[in-house]
Amino acid sequence: MADFDVVILGAGHNGLTCGAYLAKAGLRVCVLERRALPGGAAVTEELWPGIRVSRASYVPGLIDKIVTDLELVRHGLELHPVDPQNFAPFPSGRHLFTFLSDERCQKELARFSPKDAAAFPKFSGFLRQFAETVEPLLLSPPPELNDLLAYFDGTQFEEVARQILLTSCADLLRETFESEEVQGAFAMNGVLNTSMGPDTIGTSYILAMALGKRGYHYAVGGTGAVSQALAASFGTRGGTLRTNAAVRRIVVSKNHATGVELSDGTQVLAPVVVSNADPKRTFLDLLEPGTLDGDFTHRVSKLRAFGTSLKINLAMQGPLDFRALPGQTIGPQHQALTDVGPSLDYIQQAYDAARWGRLPEQPPLNIFCQTAWDATMAPKGVHTLSIIAKYNPYVLASGNWVDLKEKAVENALNVLESYAPGTGRRILQMEALSPLDLENLIGFTEGNVTHLDQSLNQMLSFRPLLGWAHYRTPVDGLYLCGAGTHPGGGVKGAPGHNAAHVILEDLGHPNPVG
Ligand SMILES: Cc1cc2nc3c(=O)[nH]c(=O)nc-3n(C[C@H](O)[C@H](O)[C@H](O)COP(=O)(O)OP(=O)(O)OC[C@H]3O[C@@H](n4cnc5c(N)ncnc54)[C@H](O)[C@@H]3O)c2cc1C
Repeated sequence: MADFDVVILGAGHNGLTCGAYLAKAGLRVCVLERRALPGGAAVTEELWPGIRVSRASYVPGLIDKIVTDLELVRHGLELHPVDPQNFAPFPSGRHLFTFLSDERCQKELARFSPKDAAAFPKFSGFLRQFAETVEPLLLSPPPELNDLLAYFDGTQFEEVARQILLTSCADLLRETFESEEVQGAFAMNGVLNTSMGPDTIGTSYILAMALGKRGYHYAVGGTGAVSQALAASFGTRGGTLRTNAAVRRIVVSKNHATGVELSDGTQVLAPVVVSNADPKRTFLDLLEPGTLDGDFTHRVSKLRAFGTSLKINLAMQGPLDFRALPGQTIGPQHQALTDVGPSLDYIQQAYDAARWGRLPEQPPLNIFCQTAWDATMAPKGVHTLSIIAKYNPYVLASGNWVDLKEKAVENALNVLESYAPGTGRRILQMEALSPLDLENLIGFTEGNVTHLDQSLNQMLSFRPLLGWAHYRTPVDGLYLCGAGTHPGGGVKGAPGHNAAHVILEDLGHPNPVG
């Protein structure tokens, strides 16, 4: 006798999104989370007395339809668009902002190169068009690469669409802009949340989606507020959420999932099991060996995770005081997402180190100051920073993360100090999470923040595997709903939304839920 209609393992924001849609359709749904709080990589935690931080992710890009369908605003979510979106300080002491408005971006670029400013409207117009075309496809099982290319056939964008899908962001940016600073500032959007370098094919797709949409938001209360609102939406629709409930294995009988077994041995039974864990963990760790055929298991084992993010959470006295735009009263340089990646070569060199298992001496940094938006996150005068120091590889050529974390943090703080002198002596508290720590804390393989790397051969109809990009798995009744499925990582909710719709379709459920 089943306990629920659906059991979801993992209360990441995608597990919660999937659960909320299924509960909205009237199904009895239970979400099981191994940690003490829901949210996965979208959590706010009080790390030090009175100081709350977005412990992992920090700027959600939730899809509007999901916010509306699940009534997240009514459930407490307050999102503010980040504008300026990015702030890029340079070693020369100059800086560049990108804004939501094209005109304001163009003016910024003109300070670096009139030629680049002139090229910007066409470039931006196309990226917007591309992102708008692709956006609806994010909320359905993925198209083939060929079909996506065919969308632009016969339009004025045909050639650029091919460039976007088949080249690297370095190629695209070098072809469009002459200023190294402009190239570097934009390139950070092409490598965000990936372990690829700007020279890797596929990064122009990521760049196009990020710059085309410009969807960075601040969630009041930190990123955990997204998960809290999703959990509330799920709960009001009758969903059951259990925390401190680690799933040890998925129970399968005659190739049909029948429920899950928790680490204390109890079972929760349901004819539909959904995994919010990453594909490697789901297929290689949570199913009994022999459940899947050898070929499938081999393909899963070869999927590339390759985490390279070192997350640093800082509490400091006062905000960063940038050499490129000094000032300790909160200004746009503190509210924007700061990118330290001053040129394509700088970013690529750091990637090259990671590629060979070495720590980058000068990691590119992506920084967000929560308290520049929300003074309630820390006592007066204290500011919190979320920092990702990129290209710190999970797999090290020599040494291990226990011994090398201090060095990796030192490298990141040295870079920060050179852009914002005096930061070091104002640090009050710090937590550093290596890719290994992220694997242990949040539970994703190799600490990859998007569950699988977002290389072109693992995106669209290839995610997670060709032939299995529709959330179903070779085990009947077992589905995936996390970032390792289309359209990938980020706090968007799209994989959870899509998985719920496929499950309802398979159940022949009469109640369409939006
Ligand atoms: C440091 C960092 C910074 C990031 N910054 C951003 C950002 O600013 N903006 C952005 O859009 N994205 C960002 N990302 C990426 C984004 O947060 C993730 O891609 C996204 O949150 C993944 O969501 P998910 O629900 O698919 O999976 P997860 O968040 O990984 O959730 C999976 C859940 O499953 C649970 N689980 C796993 N195994 C089991 C089990 N056996 N039993 C029970 N529960 C289990 C885990 O505990 C976890 O709660 C960042 C990620 C990290 C780590």
